[in-house]
Amino acid sequence: MLRISQIRLRPGEPVRGLRGRIARMLKENESEIQNVKIVKESIDARNKMDLRFVYTADFDVKNPERILRKARKLHANVTPAPDNAYAAPLSGYEGTDRYDGPRPVVIGTGPCGMFAGLVLAEAGLKPLILERGKPVEERSRDVEHFWETGELDAGSNVQFGEGGAGTFSDGKLTTGISDPRIAKVNEEFVEAGASDTILYRHMPHIGTDVLREVVKRIRQKTESLGGTICFGRKVTGLRTGQGRLTGLELEDGSVLDCSCAVLAAGNSARDTFEMLYASGIGMIAKPFSAGVRIEHPQELINYAQYGEVNDSEGRLSAATYKLSFHCRDSGRGVYTFCMCPGGYVIAAASEAGGEVTNGMSRFARDGANANSALLVSVSPEDCVRETGEDHPLAGMIFQRQLERAAFELGGGSYYAPAETVGHFLGHPDTAPSVEPTYRPGVRWASVRDCLPSFITDSMEEALPQMARRLRGFDLDGAVMTAVETRSSSPVRILRDEDMQSVSLRGLYPCGEGAGYAGGIMSSAVDGIKAAEKIIEKLAEQK
Ligand SMILES: Cc1cc2nc3c(=O)[nH]c(=O)nc-3n(C[C@H](O)[C@H](O)[C@H](O)COP(=O)(O)OP(=O)(O)OC[C@H]3O[C@@H](n4cnc5c(N)ncnc54)[C@H](O)[C@@H]3O)c2cc1C
Repeated sequence: MLRISQIRLRPGEPVRGLRGRIARMLKENESEIQNVKIVKESIDARNKMDLRFVYTADFDVKNPERILRKARKLHANVTPAPDNAYAAPLSGYEGTDRYDGPRPVVIGTGPCGMFAGLVLAEAGLKPLILERGKPVEERSRDVEHFWETGELDAGSNVQFGEGGAGTFSDGKLTTGISDPRIAKVNEEFVEAGASDTILYRHMPHIGTDVLREVVKRIRQKTESLGGTICFGRKVTGLRTGQGRLTGLELEDGSVLDCSCAVLAAGNSARDTFEMLYASGIGMIAKPFSAGVRIEHPQELINYAQYGEVNDSEGRLSAATYKLSFHCRDSGRGVYTFCMCPGGYVIAAASEAGGEVTNGMSRFARDGANANSALLVSVSPEDCVRETGEDHPLAGMIFQRQLERAAFELGGGSYYAPAETVGHFLGHPDTAPSVEPTYRPGVRWASVRDCLPSFITDSMEEALPQMARRLRGFDLDGAVMTAVETRSSSPVRILRDEDMQSVSLRGLYPCGEGAGYAGGIMSSAVDGIKAAEKIIEKLAEQK
């Protein structure tokens, strides 16, 4: 196949015209161009008067050498299509039931654990996957109950349960990493029911409505390949001998013999962090961020990004944005994160007495509001100062402190403190321009009362500056909902180049909670890498 890039279509031009466009770019008959497959789609909105969709596509021709020579003369961007097929290392047990060695264990069914489990199952190694929460169907009911009533189930919520933290999300798959395993993750998601647009969109997303079905189907596939998934199984302790993992203690008092475990517990597993720290597992504090969710009318964001565009084909989806700013004096970074177009601000708590926000969207991204986290960088030194604790878990304690302050300010029933941007910036009579989407509800307050001044001062400085890049971002009636604390892990669990804990052989700390990923895609990729290491080790020992 060949690959051609820089095919530019107007929003009104149908995508089915791509084949003809490629033929014209190469001065060929349309019949010469076969099997056109879009591999990348992005929007060039730099000139709002002339907004374009930009495509890269693969296609077949009878004589690729001739077309490559011709493309060079025509200055068309055509290259041989790279082969991105993913291949895991071989265990020798693929597709068989023969493996009867110790079963590798995976702790957690978030993106990291889910993909580690799947790849181990594909290798025929019959992984045992332990998840503290519930299957997604039951979990969804618990989460809905919490959003309706404010009654939190600390064992089954937006952070804990099948699919991990990303299940109630926008399912954005954007990532800063570049890795051949990304193709594997995307293909598995599509096979499990995600839209195939995730294979080529510049900013792909699955949507929470689709994700709930996707994680269930990946579970079923893993089971069909010999994996076992056990829900309601929280790992509460480690058994060790001569620097090696020998077993896992479970909450029900049982002990599981285990010499190899992928630890993919996510960044909300605070009791697990505490257990690991008390067990002497090497870890350090790492920087993270904290702030609020900010909510605008989606129409305002669409107008700021697209202008008055003719979208007769209805191909433009709700617009997104990504903003960042460096505070002049403090040098602190302020940035928007996890933007959810047409989405909802959600209650994402997992601890009694602590209130947390996050965001999600359905695949259609058809809600009236846009939301995004507005975050300020927090260093390990900030955490020591704010908590008076000087150890690797100080960041976790600081997060908890903020969540408790927000809980109190919200009235103590998981209502979130919320404030208009105008009020926050000193215009007391500002009315909200959006209906806040956070459930069970918001309580109007000053978010300064639950966040330290180094965070609120930074947000105050950044808001008008960000509005210079995205008109209306500092809209007086935009709503800020506190607090957003779980955007990344406050610790890193140290591991060697083999991905094993520096303190304990056989324990593979992975994913976001261990401090090696930030988001669905990078967590999934980290999980696959750990599975590969385990497969390679086993193949060596054979
Ligand atoms: C509401 C929300 C929206 C988000 N939106 C996006 C988005 O659009 N795009 C994106 O890229 N990222 C998003 N994220 C972040 C993303 O979900 C995480 O980066 C990702 O899920 C991390 O994957 P993980 O597998 O490392 O950990 P997690 O997904 O946190 O999974 C950890 C799992 O381990 C289980 N567990 C924890 N402790 C134990 C234990 N002791 N024993 C057994 N099981 C245990 C937990 O129950 C959980 O299921 C969002 C997060 C949230 C909360």
